[in-house]
Amino acid sequence: MDKLQMYIDGRYTDAANGEWFESDNPFTGQPWALIAKGGPDDVELAVQAAHRAFTTGPWPEMTASQRGHLLRKLGDLVARDAKRLADLEVQDNGKLIAEMQAQCNYVPQWYYYFGGLADKIQGAVVPLDKKGYFNFTRHEPLGVAALITAWNSPLLLLAWKLAPALAAGCTAVVKPSEFTSASTLAFVKLVEEAGFPPGVVNVVTGFGRDVGNALVGHPLVRKVAFTGSDATGRAINELAAKQFKRVTLELGGKSPNIVFNDAKLDDAVNGAVSGIFAATGQTCIAGSRLLLQEDIHDQFVEKLLALAKTARMGDPKSLETQVGPITTRPQYEKVLGYIDVAKNDGAELLMGGGPATRPECGNGWFVEPTVFSGVKNDMRIAQEEVFGPVLSVIKFRDEEEALAIANGVRFGLGAGVWTNDIGRAIRMSERIQAGTVWVNTYRAVSYMTPFGGYKDSGIGRENGQDAIREYLQVKSTWINTGAPSGNPFVLK
Ligand code: NAD
Repeated sequence: MDKLQMYIDGRYTDAANGEWFESDNPFTGQPWALIAKGGPDDVELAVQAAHRAFTTGPWPEMTASQRGHLLRKLGDLVARDAKRLADLEVQDNGKLIAEMQAQCNYVPQWYYYFGGLADKIQGAVVPLDKKGYFNFTRHEPLGVAALITAWNSPLLLLAWKLAPALAAGCTAVVKPSEFTSASTLAFVKLVEEAGFPPGVVNVVTGFGRDVGNALVGHPLVRKVAFTGSDATGRAINELAAKQFKRVTLELGGKSPNIVFNDAKLDDAVNGAVSGIFAATGQTCIAGSRLLLQEDIHDQFVEKLLALAKTARMGDPKSLETQVGPITTRPQYEKVLGYIDVAKNDGAELLMGGGPATRPECGNGWFVEPTVFSGVKNDMRIAQEEVFGPVLSVIKFRDEEEALAIANGVRFGLGAGVWTNDIGRAIRMSERIQAGTVWVNTYRAVSYMTPFGGYKDSGIGRENGQDAIREYLQVKSTWINTGAPSGNPFVLK
């Protein structure tokens, strides 16, 4: 089996304790690589290296334009190796090669965009209310950033964090998911090739309770950017708060996809199916609650099932495959558990409802695309994130009821609205509590526009110009240009 080392202070290294753990291929259900099993000692080395690189040596000496140049070079290298990175990802996380190729081809845009933004971060001259003073602001990097990612889109989620962090002038310690570390370890070789100085980007692999926890709690880490579950996000937020660290938390969702009776139904069917079955439902923005206006409910469900049943399952390496396996065994068991919960709570099973045993699924962790109707919004299947190919269909009467259902969950990541009425589209987008609203489309994301959650879906924003501010702090400087220095005990 391949042995994949960590990357600390410009060197590839085993874990300090010499231990390794296995990474599995979700299609075969078998281990294919050994990953260095880091712990607090490795975190200490990596954070110290990142802190040294932040405070001394070439990195803090560079101009913002030079940082931008390095980022654009990194983008070129990712573009050059996109196919290799996509193949590696499919082997490690089981996502479809078609999706991973598209994703890896898109990732360079983050390095180009934030590379371009690096030297456009400007402070202001403040027109003070006091004579004899000059005041200006500048935006300074926070310091060492801990970047912790989930398993569903490792290199994309990393780009959302690393590109603005480096553009801002921070240094980074990256911790990929223990289920999908391989692509990040391959990517960091490109960071080195691009010419980033040692210590600017470090990767420590291992488990959340060892590596993640030690990173978040390390006093030299001043920023934590995290993508993952809300439970982990809460723990991270609590720990980070003790040391007043800035956090960006991109957490889960239970996003509504809302179809009104005036929508173009065939387009909405496509949007509903891709909203839940793309990436086998393993996306934070999965449209896992389909809200249908009552008078189109039956015909819509009929069309939806007809399309969903055509999905080809099988080997994620094949361009023909449309639904792949679940990435991890625990997640596979969790998805099946939620299907049982929905059945027991009285939801009506229309399709799927168990493990996929088709021959083309081999020994992989496959779940049949599953659709429940008759779901009530207070059922667990409507309230909790499944993170798998399980759709809950909920009926509504009118706009008010649709809004009450849409907002009646603790999450607020994304929402889809399908309607031909522009007034309704605007009213709905105003009143839905979610960081992203899509009208007559679903799942679109870009490096150019902010992404993040309302309510329990997170804190802060990634992507777009706002994202770089998450890695900066503002300093205000006062200069006396002639104000008299009077008796301090005589207030004027
Ligand atoms: P997870 O919370 O289990 O793990 C995420 C990362 O956190 C992993 O690297 C893990 O090792 C680490 N971790 C675990 N415990 C930790 C701790 N105590 N301290 C520090 N780090 C710790 O999540 P997951 O199962 O990998 O990912 C699935 C979740 O991610 C879903 O809830 C999904 O909605 C969410 N997600 C959100 C977005 C978004 O942008 N909002 C995108 C993708 C996935």
